[in-house]
Amino acid sequence: MTIASSTARATLEQLLLARSADTLAAQLAPKHHPAPQRPRGATDTSDEAIDRRWALLAAAGIDVAPLREALLDEQARADADTYARSVEYFVGTVKLPIGLAGPLRVNGTHAQGDFYVPLATTEAALVASYARGMQLLTECGGASVALLDDGVSRAPAFAFRTIHETGQFVAWVLAHLDALRGAAEATTRHGTLKDVRITVEGNHVYLLCEFRTGDAAGQNMATIATQALCEHVVAHCPVVPTHWYVEANHSGDKKASALSFLSVRGRSVSAEVRIPADTLERRLHTTPARMMDYWQVSALGGVLSGTIGVQGHYANGLAALYLACGQDVACVAESAVGVTRFSLDDDGGLYAAVTLPSLVVGTVGGGTALPSQRACLGMLGLAGTGHAGALAEVAAATALAGELSIVGAIVAHEFTRAHAALSRRPVRLGAPDDAPTGAAAATTGAAVPMPGTDA
Ligand code: NAP
Repeated sequence: MTIASSTARATLEQLLLARSADTLAAQLAPKHHPAPQRPRGATDTSDEAIDRRWALLAAAGIDVAPLREALLDEQARADADTYARSVEYFVGTVKLPIGLAGPLRVNGTHAQGDFYVPLATTEAALVASYARGMQLLTECGGASVALLDDGVSRAPAFAFRTIHETGQFVAWVLAHLDALRGAAEATTRHGTLKDVRITVEGNHVYLLCEFRTGDAAGQNMATIATQALCEHVVAHCPVVPTHWYVEANHSGDKKASALSFLSVRGRSVSAEVRIPADTLERRLHTTPARMMDYWQVSALGGVLSGTIGVQGHYANGLAALYLACGQDVACVAESAVGVTRFSLDDDGGLYAAVTLPSLVVGTVGGGTALPSQRACLGMLGLAGTGHAGALAEVAAATALAGELSIVGAIVAHEFTRAHAALSRRPVRLGAPDDAPTGAAAATTGAAVPMPGTDA
């Protein structure tokens, strides 16, 4: 957060160039005039409630007609009720383009077969790049993937007057784990309390409550169960805390942390592939040795910049997959940590592996039942009960595909050209074929799938 003194000076000069110091102070000062009306009826998705919200925008002087047409089309209105458990103050839906990447062959402990993977993004070149990596994996026989662990945590904290009291409290908790488990598990049919880990810091105790959550991602489930556990503690423990909180920011929820890297939050998955040198050459236009060299440079680059773990761009594929499939996209923060490793095989090929310890995914609950999100899970054949482990494995294999493709593009010096060609090309409304053609195809080389060749 520090900035150079020269930058600070230039920023201040820039700020005062177009206004006086008094005007700037007035701009930044709190304003106490009456606020405009706020939206009401948080979960009301009736036509009248939606109209009232749009009327607020009109009253604020915004030309709502074109905005409303873009956000509240017939389908959005028809589906309004189904969004009531996913969003408050509903006014419409945002459309995101979805690209179909794949086929992605997954030889997993839970996912088996060839998957077409829906990716929702507004970032040109992302789907092309992942599609290329997936096709490479599939040509090599697929990614071998193992689900290693699962567990979603909530971390309540209890405060006491002395460290002696914290010791007494911990002793009580350890003696009553079965009762705490009973209280937590009474709130859910599918959730089970896996463990309670204990952190003592002075006169504070954090209980890291870790749950197995069936096919749900499980953040709500873990929170509700942890609340019941805490209430049981407070009602029965003779060592009375001065105060307590159901979550004390020690669970790693929605942030990249050492905890989400070193343990599990969600599902922990490892994926690998062996790529023969000639396949790498044909698909990525480079060699295993050059991929290895780059991996070493980039791994050190990550260390030098202080990243948690070592990886290229897990967040790209995960965010696109999470958006398409109704996952909580904020959980990309903790899901996109892990380690990518490339090494040379004895036979001259490339060994590549990714390990993502905290993939927060589910196929039940949250946004997975919304119409278009469920349809995307349906494309994968992974909607509903029994599929959360497979979705985690597909997510890890997707991350592996993305790592191979981006490194290949950088090493073969195709990275910039592919992005420039795909994101800067003119939009041709109504064009019959939107695949990279002509100048775009020529400049992208094979960093994107080429029509009529290997695409
Ligand atoms: P959820 O929709 O709140 O809960 C899952 C529901 O599905 C439960 O009612 C569960 O019943 C039921 N269920 C049916 N079949 C199941 C199966 N096979 N496996 C597991 N559950 C099954 O979803 P969640 O995953 O717990 O929470 C995800 C949502 O929480 C996301 O929308 C996320 O944005 C949000 N969130 C919440 C918090 C928070 O602290 N509250 C934080 C971050 C995100 P039983 O419980 O009876 O088993």
